Amino acid sequence: MKVLKFGGTSVGSAQRIKDVAKLITGERNIVVLSAMSGTTNALVEISDYLYKKNPDGANEVINKLAQKYNGHIEELYNTEEYKQKAKELVKSHFDYIRTFTKDLFTLFEEKVVLAQGELISTGMMNLYLNEQGVKSVLLPALEYMRTDKNAEPDPAYIKDKLLKQLDQHKDAELFITQGYICRNAYGEIDNLQRGGSDYSASLIGAAINAEEIQIWTDIDGMHNNDPRIVDSTSPVRHLHFEEAAELAYFGAKILHPTCILPAKLNNIPVRLLNTMQPDAPGTLISNSTEKGKIKAVAAKDNITAIKIKSGRMLLATGFLRKVFEIFENYQTPIDMVTTSEVGVSVTIDNRKHLEEIVDDLKKYGTVSVDEDMVIVCVVGDLEWDNVGFEARIVQAMKDVPVRMISYGGSNYNVSLLVKASDKKKALQALSDHLFNNK
Ligand code: ADP
Ligand code: ASP
Ligand code: MG
Repeated sequence: MKVLKFGGTSVGSAQRIKDVAKLITGERNIVVLSAMSGTTNALVEISDYLYKKNPDGANEVINKLAQKYNGHIEELYNTEEYKQKAKELVKSHFDYIRTFTKDLFTLFEEKVVLAQGELISTGMMNLYLNEQGVKSVLLPALEYMRTDKNAEPDPAYIKDKLLKQLDQHKDAELFITQGYICRNAYGEIDNLQRGGSDYSASLIGAAINAEEIQIWTDIDGMHNNDPRIVDSTSPVRHLHFEEAAELAYFGAKILHPTCILPAKLNNIPVRLLNTMQPDAPGTLISNSTEKGKIKAVAAKDNITAIKIKSGRMLLATGFLRKVFEIFENYQTPIDMVTTSEVGVSVTIDNRKHLEEIVDDLKKYGTVSVDEDMVIVCVVGDLEWDNVGFEARIVQAMKDVPVRMISYGGSNYNVSLLVKASDKKKALQALSDHLFNNK
């Protein structure tokens, strides 16, 4: 059995839903769907109005969205019977969302509102398949996808509940389920964060020990640089799990950062494919690697660099522990670290406790902060006994001021910290030098 995940753009219109339906029929797999594109953003906007106690603003967005769905229904289904079924389904979800315009609105209600997008898209797809004569079955994610008290997925629970659900539908030809949504340790409706449908797919893949996890999106696999920013990027055909994880973590939007781990732990290959061009080869992510090759570049925004200078204390035993402890106390993860004899620099992307952290660090040295920075991450088989690749990376960056460089933490990445205003220049220079022979 395989797991096939289709993102928002892939199910973003009636025609796209029909195209996906053609791609998924014929094999008894589990299909994970996102909400139709734009829907989760609209649900966020509705929630925002409700937080601000503006029910009229919320109703306006709700009505517009509901109208859009009625248009999709007219175009998608052939028979009056199924148009009616779909209208009832969609209406029940919008009626439910409207109930929240009358009451107190908190984080709890917001999560319920955000969950409606995936519930609608999967319901519509399942009805369409049924209308086409396919015996598909809807698997309710809220009954098997669960996080624990640390808001981490609970693989044992997910496996147990999901296998039981599959067991109940022995004659099903195909399974459709929601990405992104789950219940938390208290049984409340929750989600796996924005873009989290990729994570749903890999958790499901791990639970059923799938033959393969396929992430279908709107581009032919992982490109060697961010195609939204850089000219002439091209697809990378093969990545190691570690390389893909680094790229996802450091900003390659095509994959949710957490999605690789469950697949890697269970050694399940992940294939990135293009719904608009289903025959293109895409990218295969697996346990094997192409030796000695720089594969791709990605960038992570909104980074803050913090430098602690202390000639007196740096080499003293326990200095780094004390510094790191401060970040731990404020539950603030560190991304990059560089050290010298007189100081240490680290980067964070969560600025919530920046002021307190800086205050506490001042006990140990002189502290300075650089905001609006970007981590540019070069990924590939960069084992240290390969020669020459560091030189190529540094050469590419010769006209860009670099605040930090980090290498050696893994065999798979070199990270460089630059100003946000230099991001495009840095990414383009790396592409030109490393991949396009310019
Ligand atoms: P989905 O809605 O299917 O989850 P996303 O929008 O989350 O799709 O991810 C696909 C998008 O990721 C692409 O359209 C592309 O613009 C963007 N992207 C950013 N970096 C990369 C990269 N290195 N390779 C491919 N796509 C990338
Ligand atoms: N619909 C959710 C989002 O837009 C989850 C996803 O698409 O992965 O973030
Ligand atoms: Mg996505």
